[in-house]
Amino acid sequence: MATRLEGKPVAEQILRDVTAETARLRAAGVTPGLAAVLVGDDPASKVYVAKKRQACRDVGIEAPEYVFPAGFSESQLLSLVRDLNETKTVHGILVQLPLPKGVDERRILDAIDPAKDVDGLHPENLGHLLIGDPHLIPCTPAGVLAILDHYGVELSGRVAVVVGRSRLVGKPVAQLLIGRDATVVTAHSRTRDLPSITRQADVLVVAIGRARQIGAPHVQPGATVIDVGVNRLPDGKLAGDVDFAAVEPLVSAITPVPGGVGPTTVAMLMRNTVAACRRQVGA
Ligand code: NAP
Repeated sequence: MATRLEGKPVAEQILRDVTAETARLRAAGVTPGLAAVLVGDDPASKVYVAKKRQACRDVGIEAPEYVFPAGFSESQLLSLVRDLNETKTVHGILVQLPLPKGVDERRILDAIDPAKDVDGLHPENLGHLLIGDPHLIPCTPAGVLAILDHYGVELSGRVAVVVGRSRLVGKPVAQLLIGRDATVVTAHSRTRDLPSITRQADVLVVAIGRARQIGAPHVQPGATVIDVGVNRLPDGKLAGDVDFAAVEPLVSAITPVPGGVGPTTVAMLMRNTVAACRRQVGA
């Protein structure tokens, strides 16, 4: 029976530490602030932003919300980001993705002051990660690493395969694993014979955004599997990118979906916000 790598205890530990840190900052007269920017009416995005703001309240971070209709233009959004960059009470800026069609996401993300880039997606922060001197690490990849650490999964010298190469998940995860001395292979939609690659993995991280794509033929017996995927099925339920029922009997440990990586992502956003605040105020 595989160990279920539940994200909740990992997230709770992080949130306890963040709450203590926030209390310390508040006692010193500084209230960490995270500006949450939501454009358009994507229902999932609304839920995500509400969850993140609730988490802020729980740990003592102020979380002003900036909500705009889908017609909000790229130049208006850019000017908002620039204002927030200058706002002293805002230490972190969260622009919820995806942005509506017609808005260049890259331009917006790149306009965020790297010091306030709590999603860790600015080229400067990704560059720090690449050179092995990470400042603000993208939240989901940081959550993946936190799970591996919490459950004592050894990385040094082991083969890690990351399926997916997005800026948001796959690439930063691969960099973090390299930083921990794993031997890392990155696979993607052009990879030939994916099962022959993923079967080499001692640690398999999957972030492709396709429900239950990774099945029994893709895994090495005894591997550790981290499923980042969150996919809505036609019946409304959530499923990962890994076929949990098929893979779980073969592997030594696997994250569930929901309840695996998801909770750690929000916790990491809180941690990044407090870290950004500390750096900005020199506390
Ligand atoms: P993305 O930007 O769409 O990237 C998907 C990646 O998967 C791409 O690199 C793509 O390859 C690759 N891919 C697609 N189909 C493939 C296939 N059949 N075989 C191998 N590789 C394939 O997605 P993302 O933003 O990284 O997100 C990935 C998943 O993680 C989604 O389900 C998303 O909802 C989930 N997610 C979860 C959290 C969380 O908090 N739990 C946070 C963020 C994302 P190419 O580059 O060749 O196109």
